[in-house]
Amino acid sequence: MTTAVASRTPLTAADRCDRCGAQAYLRVELSGGGELLFCAHHAREHGDKLREIAVTVHDETDKLTDTPATAPEGER
Ligand SMILES: [Zn+2]
Repeated sequence: MTTAVASRTPLTAADRCDRCGAQAYLRVELSGGGELLFCAHHAREHGDKLREIAVTVHDETDKLTDTPATAPEGER
């Protein structure tokens, strides 16, 4: 396996939401080569539309959720 696929660079604290400047947890790569960054809030707000136009969606919003180990089941 020597395939050099463009590595999925993890998002860092330096990546900021394009909308509000909060730390980004979602990176959207567009077909034109552009890139958009969104915080968890705006990722959720624009999520459906983003996935329509995106080539790749790098989603790290699950990093955010401090899911309690004791989360009740069947809540969704
Ligand atoms: Zn935001």
